[in-house]
Amino acid sequence: MLIDCHVHLNAYHTVNGNLHRPTEENVARLWDAMAANGVDHAVVLTSYKVDVDRPSVEHVLEILAEDPRTTVVEGLRWRGDARTDLFHMEERIRDGVVRGIKLYPGYDKYAINDPSLETVFRIAAKHDVPVMIHCGDTYAKGAKVRQAHPLLVDDVAVDYPDVRFVICHLGNPWFTDTAEVLYKNDNVYADISGLTLGDFDYEFERYLIMRVKDLIAYMGDPSKQLMYGSDWPLVEMGPYVKFMEELGFSEDMREHIAWKTAAELFKIDVSRLEKGDLR
Ligand SMILES: [Zn+2]
Repeated sequence: MLIDCHVHLNAYHTVNGNLHRPTEENVARLWDAMAANGVDHAVVLTSYKVDVDRPSVEHVLEILAEDPRTTVVEGLRWRGDARTDLFHMEERIRDGVVRGIKLYPGYDKYAINDPSLETVFRIAAKHDVPVMIHCGDTYAKGAKVRQAHPLLVDDVAVDYPDVRFVICHLGNPWFTDTAEVLYKNDNVYADISGLTLGDFDYEFERYLIMRVKDLIAYMGDPSKQLMYGSDWPLVEMGPYVKFMEELGFSEDMREHIAWKTAAELFKIDVSRLEKGDLR
């Protein structure tokens, strides 16, 4: 069983040279990539803005139509014109069609510990949905990387002990800071997604395996906090599954990282996955 806790349905033209591809096509490509790589379930994260290449949460929910192969996490749009209406976001969470909130600090020009986020965290606590946070390197040059530093997750983890936070991308390249935040806070999780673009080159993959193993050595047992995620379509699923296998987890740890922790955190009904009655 394998759950990918971090995929997108945006059209990343800089990666695949293809602007304005309809979201329906990206969904079809997602099913193909999952089937080809043995991924049973994917958590789809919507963006911090809505434009021709970034479908709105309403659009994504409509297209996926509660397909049991997916869970939807809503990207918070917090600055700019089309800000998330928290009333409507809470309705979607209450109705169970959205099962997490994704923050894009740095990209969206606020810091992880910005006081304005209190209302957002209170909604997450009330409905027990995780808050996923883009942490570390920003793909865009115009984003402010300090605002997305993983050490800031400690601030909110302490202030909101009833909220479960997910440090995305292990806070790359601040793996040591992420290790400390994970070690210190039981309400903080992390995904291993997005550590490269496309496929790995050999040297870089060796380097990352070393850094991730260091992080695990410091934090201790990764079973309860670490999750598999890819960041597809920015990275290819096949090489990423291989990357996880190369981290050398014991069989029991691997089960937790590959799906059990994500299933519990996002309340994914795995009985349907186990029966294989998905397609
Ligand atoms: Zn991502």
